[in-house]
Amino acid sequence: MVLRLLPETLINRIAAGEVVERPASVVKELCENSIDAGASHIDVTLRDGGQSLISVLDDGCGMTANELSLAIERHATSKLPDDDLVTINSLGFRGEALPSIGAVARLVITSRRTGTDEAWKITVQGGRKSDPEPAAHAQGTSVEVRDLFYATPARLKFMKSVRAEQNQAVEILNRLAMANPNIGFTLSDGNRHLIKLAPAQGELFSARMVRLMAIMGRDFADNAMTIEAERQGVRLTGHASLPTLNRGNGAKQFLFVNGRPVRDKLLVGAVRGAYRDFLASDRYPLVALFLELPGEAVDVNVHPAKTEVRFRDAGLVRGLIVGALKHGLADAGHRASSTVSDAALGAFKTTPASYQFWGTSRPSGSMSQTLSDRSQEFHRPLDDRNAPPQARQVEDLTPHDDIPDDYPLGVARGQLHATYIVSQTSDGIVIVDQHAAHERLVHERLKAALESGGVARQGLLIPEVIELDEAAVARLLERAHELAELGLVIEGFGPATIVVRETPALLGDTDVKGMILDLADDLSEMDEALSLKDRLGDVVASMACHGSVRAGRIMNGAEMNALLREMEATPHSGQCSHGRPTYVALKLHDIEKLFGRR
Ligand code: ADP
Ligand code: MG
Repeated sequence: MVLRLLPETLINRIAAGEVVERPASVVKELCENSIDAGASHIDVTLRDGGQSLISVLDDGCGMTANELSLAIERHATSKLPDDDLVTINSLGFRGEALPSIGAVARLVITSRRTGTDEAWKITVQGGRKSDPEPAAHAQGTSVEVRDLFYATPARLKFMKSVRAEQNQAVEILNRLAMANPNIGFTLSDGNRHLIKLAPAQGELFSARMVRLMAIMGRDFADNAMTIEAERQGVRLTGHASLPTLNRGNGAKQFLFVNGRPVRDKLLVGAVRGAYRDFLASDRYPLVALFLELPGEAVDVNVHPAKTEVRFRDAGLVRGLIVGALKHGLADAGHRASSTVSDAALGAFKTTPASYQFWGTSRPSGSMSQTLSDRSQEFHRPLDDRNAPPQARQVEDLTPHDDIPDDYPLGVARGQLHATYIVSQTSDGIVIVDQHAAHERLVHERLKAALESGGVARQGLLIPEVIELDEAAVARLLERAHELAELGLVIEGFGPATIVVRETPALLGDTDVKGMILDLADDLSEMDEALSLKDRLGDVVASMACHGSVRAGRIMNGAEMNALLREMEATPHSGQCSHGRPTYVALKLHDIEKLFGRR
């Protein structure tokens, strides 16, 4: 055994294992250097997913010949001027990226320092460094990395497809771009731009919104709440989507700590906690949140890739995020996302195909019912018992043009398909999904009742006896105490039977059996560690489903208007417990567009 110090090239190659995992990590390190250098434009080119070439050009401060030779030395950095690891104001600080890249690829850096008129070039190949030579370059720096991992074939084997590596690079650059809206970014594959972001002007919030819209899409901009909060020197700003705009995974949840994109489980957990009452557990809102906190409150030096952080007081940060999001949700409770009415309008716009029927060309096949057949149907006397055209008029109407301004959800004009309430507002129409709305209202009423000391129950005249399988009975009885708190009183009655004695008064007439069966199903899927209160949304959904205002129930005018008024008075009533909208508002303006009047 020979104990020895490793040669520098080998040390750098080992370090590169952590810093340079794949092409996207090279893009990240080089772009961070450009951002630290004060660039206002950064142009990235990738060939073959970055394997044959990664080049990054910036217009930052640049380097002198001397600085160039130092920059490629291990642990050489200009970014810790006071040897202070606590207050880190730059993205880089470890002085590792350039030597690591130089150890596993062919690296060429060309640069011209601000205020000088000569440019210099330096190369590193498999760890061997050249001296700086004169070159031609505008102010700024360009770094070219060729044949990535040629010096470490083992790593080369782990490269994924060109498309996959490219996507990773796009992801990483987008994150950096979100945190730096004032810098212009492009990413090209040599033929076309995968990213093209102009520098966004203006103060932080508006510039950031422009940038977020370019990356996250117009929907996000239209349906995001603005978040702003501060607690004990920790500041949180950013944007988060209304519950009605959500995704099937957390890929569109971004967290930045002191301008640094990070991945942190804390964010995912905090977001989930805040949206718990508004979203099914497998749906994720879109968020971009920016935390600013003093250096001593966070450690960014956890891993060479610098994408992990450690908070000194994680509870404080979590509380701040949950609180700020909940606050935003309370304020936004009445906004159902505009994507919903846009989608509805889009659907209307695609209907012209069906107008054909009335046109000159006779449709064929099953559609070939003649106009006169149709009109006979139309004139057939209505049979009231199973009246098929399901529009019901509201008896107690206000005069048509007289919609009070303080009725944002308008005055009910009718019920369609025993499911939708259509109302007239001062500037359009609103279609309410009575079932979803009712579910939300029950949810909020239950929550309020729980907080103020108890849910009112209503005794059943004749207790309901329900047969279930034994496992279901056991599950329900295990939760009997919790269910009683929610107003549902059950007892065991033999191994496979349950007796229901009382139901929550606020549900009204209830299909007790259906409700119990659904609850038993819910409980089988629910995490045993969670209390029913934690999953109130799911429980309420099952309860409300069998309550008095379920879909398919005919409502009279007074009932409909009462529902609308209660929705207006209830926070969060724009979406049901699963993040679906409870109503869609169409403005006259948009309706006029549909008819080509505008
Ligand atoms: P770090 O970023 O941690 O300091 P790097 O190895 O990434 O370490 O870079 C080493 C040094 O090279 C930086 O501290 C900086 O002074 C200089 N440098 C690197 N890239 C650029 C650039 N694009 N423009 C100006 N200076 C740069
Ligand atoms: Mg760096």
